[in-house]
Amino acid sequence: MLSIYQFLLNKGLEKRRVQEKFFSIVLSAIEEGNNTVKLIQAPTGTGKTYGYLIPLMETGQKAIISTGTKLLQEQLRKDIESLRSVYSYLYGKDINYLILKGKTNYLCLDRYYELPPTQRPAELELAIGSSWDGDFEFVSLEPELKEKLSIDEDHCTPHYRNLCKYRKDCYYWSRLKRMEQKADLLVINHALLSLKDFDAEDRVLVIDEAHELDKYLTSSLGMSLSLYTLRREIMGRVREFIPGADIELEEFFAKHFGGLFKGDKEEVPLESLKAYAEAFEREVVLPLRSFFKNIRESLISELTNFTTERMFVSLKFKDYLLKTGLIDWDRYLDLKANYEEPTQEEERLIKKLRDYEILSNKLRKAFDFAKVMKEDPQEFGYLVGRKFSKRLGTFNYYLEVFPVFPAGHVDFTGYRAVIATSATIDPEDMASCVGLRGEYYELEHGFDYSRVDFLVYMVEPRREREKWELCLKEGYRYLRSLYEKVLVLLTNKENIKLFEKEGDVAFQGEEPLSRLVQELREGKIKALIGLDSLWFGVDVKGPKGMLMAKLPFESPEDPITFHRIRFLKSIGENPFDYQKRKALIKFRQGIGRLIRSREDYGTIVLCDKRIFRFKEFLRAVQELGIRVRRTGSNFH
Ligand code: SF4
Repeated sequence: MLSIYQFLLNKGLEKRRVQEKFFSIVLSAIEEGNNTVKLIQAPTGTGKTYGYLIPLMETGQKAIISTGTKLLQEQLRKDIESLRSVYSYLYGKDINYLILKGKTNYLCLDRYYELPPTQRPAELELAIGSSWDGDFEFVSLEPELKEKLSIDEDHCTPHYRNLCKYRKDCYYWSRLKRMEQKADLLVINHALLSLKDFDAEDRVLVIDEAHELDKYLTSSLGMSLSLYTLRREIMGRVREFIPGADIELEEFFAKHFGGLFKGDKEEVPLESLKAYAEAFEREVVLPLRSFFKNIRESLISELTNFTTERMFVSLKFKDYLLKTGLIDWDRYLDLKANYEEPTQEEERLIKKLRDYEILSNKLRKAFDFAKVMKEDPQEFGYLVGRKFSKRLGTFNYYLEVFPVFPAGHVDFTGYRAVIATSATIDPEDMASCVGLRGEYYELEHGFDYSRVDFLVYMVEPRREREKWELCLKEGYRYLRSLYEKVLVLLTNKENIKLFEKEGDVAFQGEEPLSRLVQELREGKIKALIGLDSLWFGVDVKGPKGMLMAKLPFESPEDPITFHRIRFLKSIGENPFDYQKRKALIKFRQGIGRLIRSREDYGTIVLCDKRIFRFKEFLRAVQELGIRVRRTGSNFH
């Protein structure tokens, strides 16, 4: 028996057979090593976080734990903290762990000290003087200021990093990297997993919430370019060198893409970007190249004049010149550096060179994107999106290129073992979408689902649109008449308006989801209505009702689904198998929102009779021990 587990049992932790089974799978993975892969389906109530943390801690096995979101990383922090105190009580030693997020979540001291002292927020001054780890999560700052002060790879290039005077104290590159080396448990998120920017050797990789891996990898492996980047990050810098310089960027995006957006759609799939590549080259890339050429030439001339007039320069300044490649080699060799710190004039030039370097990095990425626009390999998908930006005062358009499936783009080798787990894991989906194959375990569920009533309206959502909408409203009122807490899981934003006149409801997106969920828990609202995140990530205990608008097939107009259908057809596979598999994962996740503890019970109303045609969905409900009942309208 694992000591931490025994200790917790003595303190009142409920003994669960499935959790013990989980321990044994993790222990066997550690023992087998050799990059063994285990896929574990662990239903709600298994206690899967303790299921992997306890054996990892007990065996002293170093691990990387990847989960879906930053919020889930913070939840893991709490679990690790509680187990860590038990571990140190039992063994008299400590477990080191680190929650590591993407670089843009951390403060860059160099950018911070560029701010005039009067503009430095008091809260940050205090945090910097404390044991704060540089993570913006723990300070409240305006998003705009966070963005201005966060680590930017174009600012902190490997070259600049070596010269940065704050490198020694840098939150990310010194403190976190040091802690990462020492960490027994390194907690990352799925987006970081694709970068594999850490030492995997002899570590176990645990992929929690593995059903979300596909989604996060697909977006993190893509390339994108936005109007915001072009306007603020590129043209904003160009204007520092050439005041008044301009390109009609807003017009370019509105002219070419504005007409594609119907209703409140935010993203539209594109067959390819080829059709726009020539216009982009002509209207955006060529003017940018011309500005950059002028900037470069004027800098070369300024540097040439400066170095001709000087007999000596500082070492730092000379070093800078070398990396920029802006003066010729002979002139560089003639230059004598005989003092360390730059003069005021040199500082001014270094600042200019820094701005030039950042601009050229940002331009390089934009030009690379322009090149990619000219190609359209079938394994890649394309989309255009837009969101209103207050800072731009107009729509911020963005273009994206992404791998249709991330399989083959992510490296799962080099780990001692890989354990992927979720309440709904489909081995076929893991293999085909993310390229992870392994031994599959399906743990039994521990909740009593016979206390769930499952009612199905005999209606077809698409073919009987009006009737379906009436069923949705009626189903909702029925559930409200029974329960103090109701979740409404929709698949289309447009359907939100069906509930706008209802009282005591909140809609996803009005406030952060965690706050809305808390309001439902506390009874401040009676119903929470939303889309994707509600199907996947809401945990509200107690009796409740759940309205499912329909079987959650992704719309073929969703860009990722669109390109996957196209790709599967092109290789002769039936895309509907893929669509059904994804919908089934989401459907089972949705059902999992209802019963969150042993005392829970509730009613699910589904407004979609296709459940009787697509038997996998029906089986998924019946296998839990739930009886499915048909109903017409007016089932009171
Ligand atoms: S090393 Fe890079 S991230 Fe760190 S303070 Fe310097 S510039 Fe910023």
